[in-house]
Amino acid sequence: MAECLFCRIARKEIPAKVLYEDRLVMAFEDINPQAPVHAVIIPKAHFETLNDVSAEEEQLLGHVVIAATKLAGDLGLRDQGYRLVANCLASAGQSVFHVHFHLLGGRNFVWPPG
Ligand code: AMP
Ligand code: ZN
Repeated sequence: MAECLFCRIARKEIPAKVLYEDRLVMAFEDINPQAPVHAVIIPKAHFETLNDVSAEEEQLLGHVVIAATKLAGDLGLRDQGYRLVANCLASAGQSVFHVHFHLLGGRNFVWPPG
């Protein structure tokens, strides 16, 4: 996975504005924010899409989601609300093929999404 953009960010080979990091997870500011708060939360381990995450990774993915919700709290979004989304495959809008969640907040969102 040497060439994967998010693996390279996780290895600090490409700079990012890191908002949270631990052994398993990294969160950083999205380079093209779609809301006043827009963070990307990744497992440091590489999985191309959510389809590639097996049941064995249940704990890891739970850890990623809890890290995202903690970050939402740290960013002042806990009471205001936020959106946590993951796009799977290009038809859903996935453009970087390393599993990630978007944490979006600071404005109102519509449903259904585009
Ligand atoms: P997705 O389209 O769901 O795969 O999301 C990929 C996200 O990664 C997009 O919102 C991009 O703006 C963001 N992105 C791409 N390159 C970078 C980068 N170098 N640093 C931070 N975010 C990035
Ligand atoms: Zn990767």
